[in-house]
Amino acid sequence: MSESATGYTKPLPVLEGFSKDFYAFCKQGELRFQRCKSCGAWRHMPREMCAECGSWEWEWAKSSGRGEVFTWTVVNRALHPAFRDSVPLAPVIVELEEGVRLLSEVQGCTPEELKIGMPVEVVFDEVTPEISLPKFRRCVR
Ligand SMILES: [Zn+2]
Repeated sequence: MSESATGYTKPLPVLEGFSKDFYAFCKQGELRFQRCKSCGAWRHMPREMCAECGSWEWEWAKSSGRGEVFTWTVVNRALHPAFRDSVPLAPVIVELEEGVRLLSEVQGCTPEELKIGMPVEVVFDEVTPEISLPKFRRCVR
């Protein structure tokens, strides 16, 4: 664990390979996922080949950033010292409109307030000068 200049002490993603590209878009305020150029299937986590059609051709396509809560769990005991002051916390799986799912959190929402199917939209949490993490907030549709 290292402390950034901003004082953010939680673990950060390693910026290499697909992860470097994914977080570079987040830094620009864009949520992008891989989309197959052959069959159009979206995918996440990033990988070289399309699981739907076997194509190696893909692009980083921009997501609407809108989705809904697919599921979550409540963590009451921190399993990493950096999260000691953050419990209870609720890691949430968000299903985006494009069909891909992302592990994140819904800001400003207690675990008791979460509901399956709750509409959410992406916001970017600038935790260091290099990294903005995609988080979500409740939205009305
Ligand atoms: Zn495909």
